[in-house]
Amino acid sequence: MILSEDHSESLELSKKAQKRMLKMARLEERKIERRAKEKATRKEKKIKRAEKIAAGEQVSENEGAQKRAKLNRVKEPFAARVVLDLGFDDKMSDKEIISLCSQLAYVYSINRRSPNPFRSLLFTSLNGRTLSRLEKLNQAGYKRWVGTEWWSEGYDRLWVQTLEEFTPRDGEGFGDATSKEDWAKDNIVEKSPEESLAVPVSQNRVVYLTADSSEILEELREGETYIIGGICDHNRYKNLCLDKARASGVRAAQLPIGRYLSHLSTRKVLTVNQVFGILVKWVETRDWELSFYSVIPKRKFQDRGRGREPTDMDFPAKTTVMEEEEPAL
Ligand code: SAH
Repeated sequence: MILSEDHSESLELSKKAQKRMLKMARLEERKIERRAKEKATRKEKKIKRAEKIAAGEQVSENEGAQKRAKLNRVKEPFAARVVLDLGFDDKMSDKEIISLCSQLAYVYSINRRSPNPFRSLLFTSLNGRTLSRLEKLNQAGYKRWVGTEWWSEGYDRLWVQTLEEFTPRDGEGFGDATSKEDWAKDNIVEKSPEESLAVPVSQNRVVYLTADSSEILEELREGETYIIGGICDHNRYKNLCLDKARASGVRAAQLPIGRYLSHLSTRKVLTVNQVFGILVKWVETRDWELSFYSVIPKRKFQDRGRGREPTDMDFPAKTTVMEEEEPAL
């Protein structure tokens, strides 16, 4: 019964859908072939290596060990926190949620591979379809991402709830401060960057990144917290993150793209992983221009007006959305 139902449904598939299914089947087949080839090559390498060892020859570390060593080589972390604000679950289509989750995986991978990773990656407001999607991916692989924290609560818990639980060191008290918040403002900022990641955050050390702010981010500082809006919206919502930043009383700033790539329009909206990639590259190089070009392919800036330098006239809409091809997981 079920079979015949399925059959009749497939008969009704449009030509386009049939073509798509065929293409997917072909891709899947190629993937299986590729995997089999890779497996055979690995096996061959293993045998050759064993032969060399048996013959008393010197061998280098195997590939897996080399990869692990590369990931674990001595790192110089940057003592700042990046928050991925996932509080926009209801603003995205299912497809956009899928893209966003790939971008999050990409963010994690960029940080893990960097010689100067951000010390803390915090994902806040994890709920709804974003949570379901992450649970499905790689058997909830996100739970095994090293050095990440996941909250179902919003990022304001950084200063609201933690502050409630927080008590100053023995004998210090709250001094002359009229409230705990006032006390925190004066005291927490003076702590070393490492320490300030472990205690409640004062709001004036938090920056929400958004292309809609008129403020420009000049540099990243240890001890500060940078929020990236975890949303893939194909530019439907203007000022979404800017309004949120204002409502939560934190600063907002845009990346200084315009300064280096002035032929672009005033608003340049990047994807989550592009923004994160730029931040990491800046930490590594302290050079914005280099960081932009290492993350956004140059051709993206030349999409319009092929064969000549683009001018402002090429971007009358005042918005350039630089959506990336979906990153591989
Ligand atoms: N409509 C959303 C745009 C989502 S783009 C909004 O209101 O911001 C995903 C996130 O990347 C943004 O929330 C922002 O944190 C970051 N971002 C994108 N382009 C940026 C830019 N030019 N400067 C700073 N942050 C940017």
